[in-house]
Amino acid sequence: MNTEPAPGVVARIDALLPQTQCTRCGYAGCKPYAAAIASGEAGINQCPPGGSATIAALAALTGRPVQALNPVHGVETPPRVAWIDESRCIGLSPRRIRRRSIACVSKRTLRGC
Ligand code: SF4
Repeated sequence: MNTEPAPGVVARIDALLPQTQCTRCGYAGCKPYAAAIASGEAGINQCPPGGSATIAALAALTGRPVQALNPVHGVETPPRVAWIDESRCIGLSPRRIRRRSIACVSKRTLRGC
């Protein structure tokens, strides 16, 4: 069932998504997937990086039932962290980091890239 979402719904759904922009949900990024959920085009169980916690949050927001992660889109794995030795780093673009679904953490700043 595709319906026109109420104003602000896409942003509220998008805020619950991990923002890795990995496209594993089958959409071009988190916001397009949020729009598809809001319109009824997509299920709430297509985001492997978000896993069961995100599915539960989406279910609470949308009123849809909690479902298992759809294995067509992948499996839930523990979050990964890449520790960067800045003295040896040759540079890895934030896009490549997002594609690998990892958090980039600098030892010096303890902040993401
Ligand atoms: S699978 Fe999840 S984290 Fe990856 S683009 Fe889709 S909504 Fe974003």
